[in-house]
Amino acid sequence: MSNKNSNFDVVVIGAGAGGLCAAARLAHNGYRVLVLEALEVIGGRASTRTVDGFLCNTGALVIELDGAVADTYRDLGLELKLYEPHRSSTVLRVGGHDVNITEGAAGWVRNIAPVILRSLTNLRPSLRPLPGQSLKVWLNKFTRRPWIHGLMNNVVGAMFAASTEDAPADVILHYFSKGTSFKKIGMPVGGTIEVWKPLVDVIKKSGGEVWLGSKANRLNFSEDGLVNGVIVENGGDLIEVSTSLLVSNIGPLATVALADVVDLPEGYGRSVREASNPAAIITVHFASPRPLASFPCLAIFSQSRRMVYAANFSAPELQRAPAGWHLYCGASVPRPARGEFDVELEKRLLLEDIREQFPGFDQSMVVAIDVTAHEWPAQRAITGYDLPPTTPIKNLWNVGDGVKPWGGAGTAACAETAKLIVDEICRRFPLGVQ
Ligand SMILES: Cc1cc2nc3c(=O)[nH]c(=O)nc-3n(C[C@H](O)[C@H](O)[C@H](O)COP(=O)(O)OP(=O)(O)OC[C@H]3O[C@@H](n4cnc5c(N)ncnc54)[C@H](O)[C@@H]3O)c2cc1C
Repeated sequence: MSNKNSNFDVVVIGAGAGGLCAAARLAHNGYRVLVLEALEVIGGRASTRTVDGFLCNTGALVIELDGAVADTYRDLGLELKLYEPHRSSTVLRVGGHDVNITEGAAGWVRNIAPVILRSLTNLRPSLRPLPGQSLKVWLNKFTRRPWIHGLMNNVVGAMFAASTEDAPADVILHYFSKGTSFKKIGMPVGGTIEVWKPLVDVIKKSGGEVWLGSKANRLNFSEDGLVNGVIVENGGDLIEVSTSLLVSNIGPLATVALADVVDLPEGYGRSVREASNPAAIITVHFASPRPLASFPCLAIFSQSRRMVYAANFSAPELQRAPAGWHLYCGASVPRPARGEFDVELEKRLLLEDIREQFPGFDQSMVVAIDVTAHEWPAQRAITGYDLPPTTPIKNLWNVGDGVKPWGGAGTAACAETAKLIVDEICRRFPLGVQ
């Protein structure tokens, strides 16, 4: 094993949304940062890969224009350039019709209804969701109509990769009445990976480094219980990198797995394992020489077997498909959303939904089918069940999915965790006194 006297102030494990936002913020504050990424590419579950000339996302399809990713860009003095479809960005497909829910009357209902509902629950506490009560059980107080339950199931699936049976009602109500809740969205030109590249530039400009193909294998601890180094596997070699501050973007569960049990505070590993309950999403990217849909950006389905939403990447400005081709992506949340499910059955049900909602699908080309589950989950924790970013180890923090703020979703929530922990690091470990 070689020993790298790295002189980095902070090591960040994982170049996903949370890790890169944290690393770039730290670099902006003068910290010299090393980012370790196991894959040969940045972005994690918000990255992009090329399949037969089509740019397919590994996860995140759209980015909130007013969420914490945009805040990160603003704080770093960067400009977030996203393609914003000039017509409505999100439609709700009801009975074969697309209703614009970004603007107009339906947009108003989408924005105001949760606020009214929340005010009602404030006036009539008996209507308030009980702590931990599922959205399904709470909705039953108001209605049992299957189409409302089906619609809510798809909305919750689209935002949280969960079903109304898994999602806690109080968290969802908070999200829709208070949060940005994907009302203003844009699509990254050239794929979601492009969002993170300027952050890598910020890290490198401040003397930091991003090591691709570098997997953190183990954490080393000092006698006083602090992390003091990381063993990194890089091109078949093992390298020991010393550090006094460690930020992990690989989720609390994978992070504790890097430590020997004896190095962790008693009971911590077990509590993390008990709290971890990842959820899944299946996506199908498909392409056709002729247009298969007219919605401009996202469609949510009021009723379906499994498909919760679909995205249209056909706009030539997005540069996702070879000339003359139209690229789409349909996404489903399997049942159950957490735990084991029948992968082949779930793929088939999603394809049946796509066939039904996209006439002409049978003449199109399936570019990629991705099952985001298990070790590479859609969500490490359903919102409301995340762990805190801080750990009982004073110089170790988690960022990203798995430690999202209460009621947070998507890359914006991951970026928010990065801001929280960077603020704490700057306050508790100012430069020069680590
Ligand atoms: C299908 C799908 C659609 C989605 N759609 C949207 C959307 O439209 N908008 C939105 O905002 N969000 C969306 N999300 C959610 C969003 O993509 C994720 O919440 C977010 O990308 C998770 O980021 P993260 O910070 O947790 O990092 P991750 O993406 O989990 O990245 C972690 C990184 O760590 C690396 N790593 C793992 N282990 C090691 C190790 N030992 N050493 C070094 N590196 C390691 C991994 O390779 C990975 O690159 C979607 C997710 C899915 C799955």
